[in-house]
Amino acid sequence: MAISFRTRLISLFILLLGLTLFTSTWAVLRAVDNNARANAERELLVAERVFETLLEENSRQLTDRTALLAEDFGFRQAIATNEEETIVSALINHGERISADLILLMNPAGEVLIGTHDLADSLAVIAQKTQHQSVPFSELAIAEQLPFQLVMVPVKAPELVAWVGVGFEIDTALIYSFRDITKADVSLLYQGSANSNVNSLSTLNNANERINSNNPTFDESSTQFIASLQNDSWLNQQTELLQRGDQRISLVLSVSLKEAIAAYKNLQTQMLVIAAIVLLLAVLISAVIAGSITRPIGTLVRAARRIAQGDYQQQLSIPGKTEFNELGDTLNQMQMDIQDREKHITFQAQHDMLTQLPNRHYMAELMQERLQQPDGNSFAAVLIKVINFESLSDIYGVSIMDPVLLQAANKFSNHLEDTDTVGLIAADEFLIYRQVNSSQSLKAFTSEIKSLFAKPLVCNNIELTLDTRLGAVNCPDEASNYEDMLRRSRIALNEARLTNQCEFFYTSGLEDRYLRKLKVTQRLQHAISHNGFTLLFQPQFDLNKKVIHSAEALIRWHDTELGAVYPDEFIPLAENSGDITLITDWVFAEALAQLEKWHSLGYELGVSINLSAKDILKDNFIDRVIAQIAARNITPRLLMLEVTESALVEDIDHAIANLRRLYEAGVHLAMDDFGTGFSSLAQLKVLPVHELKIDKSFVLNLDKDIDDQKIVRSTIEMAHHLGLTTIAEGVENNQSISLLKSMNCDAIQGYYLSKPIASDELTNWLATFNSTPLEPIYA
Ligand code: C2E
Ligand code: CA
Ligand code: CA
Repeated sequence: MAISFRTRLISLFILLLGLTLFTSTWAVLRAVDNNARANAERELLVAERVFETLLEENSRQLTDRTALLAEDFGFRQAIATNEEETIVSALINHGERISADLILLMNPAGEVLIGTHDLADSLAVIAQKTQHQSVPFSELAIAEQLPFQLVMVPVKAPELVAWVGVGFEIDTALIYSFRDITKADVSLLYQGSANSNVNSLSTLNNANERINSNNPTFDESSTQFIASLQNDSWLNQQTELLQRGDQRISLVLSVSLKEAIAAYKNLQTQMLVIAAIVLLLAVLISAVIAGSITRPIGTLVRAARRIAQGDYQQQLSIPGKTEFNELGDTLNQMQMDIQDREKHITFQAQHDMLTQLPNRHYMAELMQERLQQPDGNSFAAVLIKVINFESLSDIYGVSIMDPVLLQAANKFSNHLEDTDTVGLIAADEFLIYRQVNSSQSLKAFTSEIKSLFAKPLVCNNIELTLDTRLGAVNCPDEASNYEDMLRRSRIALNEARLTNQCEFFYTSGLEDRYLRKLKVTQRLQHAISHNGFTLLFQPQFDLNKKVIHSAEALIRWHDTELGAVYPDEFIPLAENSGDITLITDWVFAEALAQLEKWHSLGYELGVSINLSAKDILKDNFIDRVIAQIAARNITPRLLMLEVTESALVEDIDHAIANLRRLYEAGVHLAMDDFGTGFSSLAQLKVLPVHELKIDKSFVLNLDKDIDDQKIVRSTIEMAHHLGLTTIAEGVENNQSISLLKSMNCDAIQGYYLSKPIASDELTNWLATFNSTPLEPIYA
C-alpha cells in the first residue's frame, strides 16, 4: 500500500514531537522522582538528628528531676542512716511525682538495694559505670521485655552513699510524639534477651507483622523488617540505640516514598496532560501544515498529468511565493515549450521541409477535410509531374533541384487562390486541390498551370525548362478517398504521357482499361518466356498475275488467364513496354521457317511481316534481317515488311535510312494502313517502299460507300504515279473485288479469300483455291 507524502509528513512531525515530548516528560518525571527521594532521605537524616536530640533532652530533664531526689536532705539522711522505710516512701513519692516507671537504688559498691524491675544484662553495665563515675549518666535498657530510658544520679552525703536510678518506659505515646515532631514514622525494635521475641513499637500500623517470629536473631528480624518496608516503598534509616549482650534496641525511621512522590503526582499528571494536549495540537497543526505543503504538490501532480495527456491550455497558478510557485511557473513554461515543440514537430511531419508545402500524408488529411465540408465539397485534384526531373538532376546535378523545386513551389503559391491547396507529394510531383464547377473551368485551370512552366526557370544562371504532365480527377465523383484519387490521377497522368499530351482528365472506366493494360502487359512477359504465341497466315492475291503470291503473318495469343487477346490490344502495349522487339524476333523466326517450308513444298509464296516503329529504328535488327536473308538463301523480294505511317513519326530520318538499307537489300516494303495517318504525298515520295496497303477502313464498305470509292480510286492512281503498287485489305465481298479491279488495284487481301489461318490449313486452302477458280477474281 502506498503511503501518501502527506501521511508521511504528518507521521514524521508526530514522531519527532512525540520523541521530544517523551524524553522531556521522562526527564522531568525522573527529576521529580529523584528529588522526592532526595527530600525523603534528607528528612530521614533530620529526623534521626532530631530523635537523638529529643532523647538527650529527655535524659537531661529526667536527670534534673532525679537530681532533685538525690539532693533531698531527708532522702540522703535516710540512706546514710539506712532507714529503709523512709527510703522506700521517698522513692515512691518522688517516683510518682515525676511519673517514673522504674526505680533503682544501688549502693556505691554497685549492689542493688531496691529495684522495681529486673534489668538483667543491663544491670552489670550500670553497676560498672557507677564504680567509675561520679556524675549522673543516662542509659537505655530493657527491663522485663520493655524498653526504658534510665537516668542514674549519685547521692552524696557528702560522700557517695548511693546511686538512684529512675527509668521511663519508651512507649507508644513517646514515639508518636516523636513522629509529630519529625514527620517520619518511628519504629523501635527491641529484644530483652537471647531467647525472647523481637518486639516492636511503631507508629506504623502493621509493624509487628513485618517481624517474622521465626527468625532466630535480632539482626535477621530487623533486616527483614526493613526489607518489607522497602518493598512497600518506604525509605528507612536504621540506628542502633542499644547493643548490650543480648539486649538490643534499634531505631528505624521511615518515610513513605509514595507520599513523597504523591506530592508531585499532580505535577506528573499535569505534565502528561500537557504532553497529550501538545501531541494532539501537533497532530492538528501538522495535518494543516502538511495539507498546505502537499496541496500545491497535488495541484502540480494534476497539472503534470494533464500535460502528459496533451492538454496544454490551462495555466497553472499556485498562490504565495514558495518553491512551489517556481515549480508551477516552470511547469507553465514547460507546457508552452512542449506545445511549441509539438507544433513544430507536427508541422515537420506534415510538410516538406524544403518548400514548406504539405506532404503526401497531410494532403491525405486535407482531402478528407475537404470532402467533409458541408457545401461545395466537389473539387478537382490535379497531379503535376515534372517528367524531366531526373534527367535535369542528372545533367545539372542533384543540388540544383532544390532551388528548382523551391521556385516551382513559389510559382504555385503566388498563383493559386486562397481556397486552393498545393502539396509536394514526391520529389517531382505536386498535387493541387481546386474548387471547380465545370469541366471548362478545370480546363482553364490546367492551362494556367501549364503556362506557369512555359517559360524556363533560371537557377544558378542556368535556364531550365520543366516538362510537366498533368493528371486531373474530379472528387468525389471519380474518387472519394485519397488512395483512389492519387491512383486515378496518376493513371490520368500516365495516359497523358502515353498519348503524348500535356494533360489528361480521368474519366470513369479509365482505371479498368488501365488495369487491363497492366494485366495484359504483365501476362505478355509470361507468353514471351513460355512461347505462348502462334502465327496465322492470311493469303494475298495478285490481281494482275491472278495468283496467291503472298501471305500476311498475323500473331495470335491465347493466354491461360485472359483467354484470347488480339494483337490490336497487346501489340501497342508491347511497343510501350519494349517487349515488341522480342515478339518481332519470334514472328520473324517463325515466318522465315514457314517461308522455307513452302519453298520446299514447291509454293512460290512470299510472307508479309508487320514491323513496329521500334523495330525500324533498331540498327542491329536491320542488320539481322539482312544477314538472315543471306544465311537462309531466301529470295529477298519474297520477304515483305509492312510498316505504318505512325512508325515513321518518331525519328523519320533514321527510319528512312534503315528502310533504305532493307530496300537496297531487295526486301519488299509496304506502307501499311495507308490513309489513317498524317503522311503527306511529299513524304511518300522520299519513302523507300514498293507498295501501298490501303487500310481496311476504306475497303470494308467499298461497295456501298461512294466516298470510300473516291478515296481508294485516287489513292491507287496516286500510288501508280509514284511507281508504287497497291494492295487493299479488308476485302469481304466480290462487289468490292470488282470495284478494286476496275480501279486497277494490284492485289487484295480479306475474308472473302480467307481469314488468317494456320500454315497447315493454308497449304490445304491453296490446293482448293487453285483448283476451284473464284469469281470474279479470274474474270
Ligand atoms: P494489320 O496489319 O492491318 O492487319 C490486318 C488486320 O485486318 C488483321 O487483324 C486481320 O485479321 C484483319 N483482316 C484481314 N482481312 C479482313 C477482312 O476482310 N475483314 C476484317 N474485318 N478484318 C480483316 P489482326 O490479325 O487482328 O491484326 C491486327 C493488327 O495487329 C494488325 O493490323 C497489325 O497492325 C497488328 N499485328 C498483327 N500481327 C502482328 C505482328 O506479328 N507484328 C506486329 N508488329 N503487328 C502485328
Ligand atoms: Ca499489316
Ligand atoms: Ca491495316
